[in-house]
Amino acid sequence: MSKISIKTAIPGPQAKAIIEQDHQYLSTSRYQMYPFVLASGQGCYVEDVDGNVFMDLHAGIAVTSTGHNHPDVNAAVAKQSARYLHNCGNVFYNDMQGHYAKRLSEVTQINNSDKNRVFFCNTGAEAWDGALKLARFATGRPNFICFYNGFHGRTLGGISANSSKVIQRHKFGPLLPGMHFSYFPRNYPCPSNPPYPTTTEGCLEYLEEVLFKKVVSPDEVAAIALEPIQGEGGYIVPPKAFIQGLRKICDKYGILMIADEVQSGMGRTGKLFAMEHFDVKPDIVTTAKGIASGMPIAAIVASESVMNWPTGAHGSTYGGNPVAIAAAEKTLDLLEGSLMDNAAEIGAYFIDKLKALQVKHGAAIGDVRGLGLMIGVEFAKLENGRVMPDADLRDAVIQKAFEHGLLTLACGNSTLRFCPPLTISKDEIDSVIDIMEQVFSALIS
Ligand code: PMP
Repeated sequence: MSKISIKTAIPGPQAKAIIEQDHQYLSTSRYQMYPFVLASGQGCYVEDVDGNVFMDLHAGIAVTSTGHNHPDVNAAVAKQSARYLHNCGNVFYNDMQGHYAKRLSEVTQINNSDKNRVFFCNTGAEAWDGALKLARFATGRPNFICFYNGFHGRTLGGISANSSKVIQRHKFGPLLPGMHFSYFPRNYPCPSNPPYPTTTEGCLEYLEEVLFKKVVSPDEVAAIALEPIQGEGGYIVPPKAFIQGLRKICDKYGILMIADEVQSGMGRTGKLFAMEHFDVKPDIVTTAKGIASGMPIAAIVASESVMNWPTGAHGSTYGGNPVAIAAAEKTLDLLEGSLMDNAAEIGAYFIDKLKALQVKHGAAIGDVRGLGLMIGVEFAKLENGRVMPDADLRDAVIQKAFEHGLLTLACGNSTLRFCPPLTISKDEIDSVIDIMEQVFSALIS
């Protein structure tokens, strides 16, 4: 499986039957952009149940970082599966968790810390909830500052901090009290000239001058909690000065900083964690998704002085499942071996090529941005002299790319995101660019 090959009408007959069954029995809350039904994968390629081969540029939402079916990861999973599947590492000892916890604690940069500790759980949202609990416990303070456009998962703790799409919160309240929202800056505001701050200075000033003076006293704030690069909200990379400004505010008021690196972490941006691009160390990090190439595991990492809650204060039956740990260890080997560097190099190459397409196709491609292989392309249109999001164009691009054999994903109002396996090569990017060129030519006049 090494090239795109579409042989049947999409969806083909097998896919149609499976989709029909899914629609009958699975929750109505699910959301699918296109009728691709996975049967097997290899590297960046995935074959559907009718034998059509596509290129996977979303990696199961930034998860299969080492590509599908990586032989080393598979071997690690098979080896551990043959030993034992579970013993609840939260309550009983096993010979898998401590070793990986040591490694993860050592490679995660944490503020004012000589030694970190790790709590294992299963999903990004579970890590987020645990991080909120830890911050409240460590500071004795109840409140949080989150950011508009942020996303942290679907638990009640997650949706209480989410503000990327209101459907995620609609009719689920009352939500967690103590969550206050501030603004996240963007170089490319779309809609343009919005009635809220978008610059570093404006956003930091809003936090200190409005929120802290009128809404919540900083000495009652446990943590400023953010995605260093907003993911679901649109792949928005903030200016370095903003993240550094937040760190200063945290230090000034004794507030912890939580970095939700669930999507941006584990090598995706070319560094292990995206915070490293901003030269800022958070106090608590959450990680999941790309950490184990597709096996479900997540972690909270904090300094020993912050993660000192007592026995029994937090737990999880499956957290740090030994098979998932085996996959995580091997994934970290591969990231450190070459994949993180590949993400940096190929990501920069991909962005350059996309920017060249942007120049060619004009203002409809409003912005191309990203770090490493976390790349967003935002579509825009002019309405009454104002730049507005063009979600219809973005959706049409995703559909047409799909017809040409590319699996992509939306985020934000009108952004297409690329978060492929970190194994992707220059040749593969060249073929993606050839297809995107055809797609843009067909859809953008
Ligand atoms: N935080 C961020 C930044 C995410 O992108 C996501 C998932 N998209 C989550 C948390 C939630 O992760 P999970 O779906 O594993 O609970």
